[in-house]
Amino acid sequence: MSFQSLNLIDPLLRTLAELGYDTPTPVQKQAIPAVLAGRDLMAAAQTGTGKTAGFALPILQALTMAGVVGPLGVRCLVLVPTRELAEQVYDSFRRYGANLPLRCFVAYGGVPIEPQINKLRKGLDVLVATPGRLLDLHRQGALTFDQLQTLVLDEADRMLDLGFAPELDAVFAAVPARRQTLLFSATFSDTIRALACKLLNDPLSVQA
Ligand code: AMP
Repeated sequence: MSFQSLNLIDPLLRTLAELGYDTPTPVQKQAIPAVLAGRDLMAAAQTGTGKTAGFALPILQALTMAGVVGPLGVRCLVLVPTRELAEQVYDSFRRYGANLPLRCFVAYGGVPIEPQINKLRKGLDVLVATPGRLLDLHRQGALTFDQLQTLVLDEADRMLDLGFAPELDAVFAAVPARRQTLLFSATFSDTIRALACKLLNDPLSVQA
């Protein structure tokens, strides 16, 4: 199977060719068509399985097809447990979206919030963030979630291990009920399953 047969648009296919990716990984084969079709996902996938492209490629495609967002809006929110992962996932969105006119940004704590607020005021397509800083930004009025289409939880098990459950609950309360939700986790404990039950609507289960 090739990336062409997954119905990706030309700018993404060109980027993948430039990166030298010719075959989708098992996670990508399952996730890309489902995300493009608007489905929710529950994916058991560790780092190294190609999971990031598995969600970034179809999200970038869907955002490109849907048009632009106004000031203050964010259309896709990717929550990650650590600043290191935030930088990695943000790099992936920028790399895969290199031939697309989308605005991606990353925000995490431990650095000044003002430049992040100024950047967010202009509206953006994809925000990769750690839960605490995301909530600070939201409380300060730097962004709204009215236009949010897709919420991604990456390494959900690590977010819970790091004690982010209260922050995640606050985010879930603030985002629109009608949205696409993608949950990635290396492990599927009872707690993660309970989270999935609460958040996902008829999800497709994906195994790496
Ligand atoms: P991830 O599991 O998302 O952290 O990705 C692991 C690594 O695999 C990253 O360095 C990606 O650039 C690379 N990668 C992802 N998908 C493919 C693919 N289909 N072909 C070749 N390399 C890939």
